[in-house]
Amino acid sequence: MSFPADLDHLVRTDEPLAPLVWLGIGGPARYFAEPVDRVELARIYEAAHSAGLAVRVLGGGSNVLVREAGFDGLVISLSAAATSELSIDENRLTAGAGAKLSHAVIKSVGAGLGGLEHLVGIPGTVGGAVMGNASNGGRDIGSVVDTITVVESDGCTRTLSQQEAGFSHRKTSLLGLGVLETTFVLEARDVSALTKRMQKLWISRNSSRPSEQRRIAMPFVDPDGMPAKDLLQSCGLAGVREGDVSLDAAHPHYLIAHDGATSDQCLRLIERVREQVTLQTGIDLQLNLQIW
Ligand SMILES: Cc1cc2nc3c(=O)[nH]c(=O)nc-3n(C[C@H](O)[C@H](O)[C@H](O)COP(=O)(O)OP(=O)(O)OC[C@H]3O[C@@H](n4cnc5c(N)ncnc54)[C@H](O)[C@@H]3O)c2cc1C
Repeated sequence: MSFPADLDHLVRTDEPLAPLVWLGIGGPARYFAEPVDRVELARIYEAAHSAGLAVRVLGGGSNVLVREAGFDGLVISLSAAATSELSIDENRLTAGAGAKLSHAVIKSVGAGLGGLEHLVGIPGTVGGAVMGNASNGGRDIGSVVDTITVVESDGCTRTLSQQEAGFSHRKTSLLGLGVLETTFVLEARDVSALTKRMQKLWISRNSSRPSEQRRIAMPFVDPDGMPAKDLLQSCGLAGVREGDVSLDAAHPHYLIAHDGATSDQCLRLIERVREQVTLQTGIDLQLNLQIW
């Protein structure tokens, strides 16, 4: 397909995605664009929509597994300054989708606003966290969302309420939409108490994560009433390996891509693990990781 001439400079073809995702594997995107602002974003969506091209937004790439064949459509990155801004107005924090979640957490804590600090240490962007209703310690990001501005497949934008976004455990009903901006309603709190709480949470997160492993993912959703880590351990799946991909031995809710790992090996390991869990416990372990 060809994009309108004035958008042509924005769109690259056969862009490698492996360097943009945490697992560091997978094929290229047929088209890739980094719009500088909302106007460009809307026009790109519109052009892709008219051409019947599938569109995905890439955030920090911490929750995406790209297949070997790559993605046969348009991948949009919202990392430009205009789509990554953070601002505070009284007890509200507004975040562009491309803003790093860690920056949003630190900014809110620094302003004495509580409600996001439990998300400290979760990699990725605000857009990615909202899309997948990221959570930690039983509290999810959706619980402090006020409104979300989204772009629809035809390039039109609209603002949704928390209720319309359909937040449930690690899920939303935002599939097919691009998250552009989110406003959070937070609670005024004491800055130093909040900072201490955030630091404590940060230390505890770091101690429960494979050290020195950079190419990792957290593929599964915790099933009802039990952390995936405990379930996998009790099923004897800690350290299980498929080619150059394994579940971590000490923290089996993390999948590790070792040197030589492929997307096919990841998919095979995930399937094997899910089958074993169902066989041993009857639990249908759901995937958090998005497969492109
Ligand atoms: C070490 C590690 C620890 C983790 N810990 C946690 C945890 O404690 N809790 C938790 O919930 N998750 C956790 N995760 C998973 C992951 O970090 C989160 O799901 C995170 O919110 C994904 O954000 P991202 O920007 O990296 O999204 P990406 O990986 O880039 O994208 C994930 C999905 O969201 C979509 N998406 C991203 N941005 C947008 C947007 N603006 N509009 C529309 N769709 C979008 C993508 O298309 C894709 O389908 C962890 C992952 C790792 C590697």
